[in-house]
Amino acid sequence: MNQADSFRQQVREWLEANCPQSMRVPITSEAELCWGGRNFEFQSEGQRLWLERMAEKGWTAPIWPRQYGGGGLDREQNKILKEELTRIHARSPLFSFGISMLGPALLKFGSEEQKQQHLPAIVRGEIRWAQGYSEPNAGSDLASLAARCEDHGDHFILNGSKIWTSYGDLGDWMFCLVRTDFEAPKHQGISFVMFDMATPGVSTRPIRLISGKSPFTETFFENVRVEKDQVIGGLNKGWTVAKYLLTHEREMIAASSLSGAGTSPVSQTAIQSIGTTHGILRNTPLRTDIARFEMDERCLELTIERARDEVKAGVSLGAAASMFKYYGTELNIRRQELLMAIGGYDALVWEGGASQHGQTPRRWLRSKGNSIEGGTSEIQLNIVAKHILGLPG
Ligand SMILES: Cc1cc2nc3c(=O)[nH]c(=O)nc-3n(C[C@H](O)[C@H](O)[C@H](O)COP(=O)(O)OP(=O)(O)OC[C@H]3O[C@@H](n4cnc5c(N)ncnc54)[C@H](O)[C@@H]3O)c2cc1C
Repeated sequence: MNQADSFRQQVREWLEANCPQSMRVPITSEAELCWGGRNFEFQSEGQRLWLERMAEKGWTAPIWPRQYGGGGLDREQNKILKEELTRIHARSPLFSFGISMLGPALLKFGSEEQKQQHLPAIVRGEIRWAQGYSEPNAGSDLASLAARCEDHGDHFILNGSKIWTSYGDLGDWMFCLVRTDFEAPKHQGISFVMFDMATPGVSTRPIRLISGKSPFTETFFENVRVEKDQVIGGLNKGWTVAKYLLTHEREMIAASSLSGAGTSPVSQTAIQSIGTTHGILRNTPLRTDIARFEMDERCLELTIERARDEVKAGVSLGAAASMFKYYGTELNIRRQELLMAIGGYDALVWEGGASQHGQTPRRWLRSKGNSIEGGTSEIQLNIVAKHILGLPG
């Protein structure tokens, strides 16, 4: 047996013994996601155990180094782990902006003390992170941000506000872009800082949406103390860190638009809802659209896989993240349209009914935001035009 096969067998045995049965069924509502954090209430004992066991192995962040609590897996092993998780329909043990966004930036730009302080807690799901990037006058033009962070000797004092903070009311800590040099050109006066959201002077206000939910807040800072050892990448060097983090955010958004562990493929949902005749889906136009969708999805999956191998070989993902983000979000929008078509009238039910308590229309509405979060589709196309196609800016 070669090394890969033997690793696969170990993973299989470990998952068999450690993944609770209740964590091997697709997620049907957002309430079933595990986000961790100081105030997180587990939905079940299975959910708590699954996080605890995966975190213990470092498999909530499989490719992070072991010294920071990660799994220390190489790309090949990580791929095998993902395949085995998908095979048993295992749910993701932890959804975390700490893992998908902050962690990669800390690993690249953080000091040893910062890594030791924050990374193990992220792996264990102890701290829930919020992202403080956008401001009322700084979205696509992010570098225009104005949150003002002034030097007060041994610490900074922060004043200003952020907007569209996803789950801002549930965050324990925030990673945040602030202005620390008020005279420098706009990209050169920004720092990337972290602080506890329980610090006096931090407050949030919910923003209500069409979906009936309020996943966002406005976040206000009034004389908030920020410690000097919580600046990543150096004072006024935050723009480099911010851009690096965005490539990870965009890749994460693209990858999360793919079917995978814990979700059902569209074709399977269609077969269950519409039924087959002689093994063929009864609705011919839908059949064609689903086949086209699943082929495109597979192509994106393989292309992301290839890009990850290139990153491993030392090539920077850079602007390719924008290409993936654009295509991934377009795919998710198509997926939600297809699920609405498959559901027919049932998919219009908002509360209760066959659409899993309104999840289908809610997800369809939520997908509209995919083309905005992490940088809008227009901005991604601008980046692709300039940095990949070499078109004039
Ligand atoms: C679901 C979701 C979650 C989010 N979570 C967070 C979060 O946790 N933290 C956070 O900080 N932010 C978050 N955001 C905010 C998000 O990053 C911004 O909404 C986004 O960057 C766009 O900024 P804006 O809303 O100010 O739009 P604007 O920048 O005002 O853009 C308005 C329109 O103009 C277009 N446009 C602007 N500039 C150009 C240009 N140069 N060329 C072509 N078209 C252009 C845009 O594409 C868009 O269509 C989230 C947004 C969504 C939808």
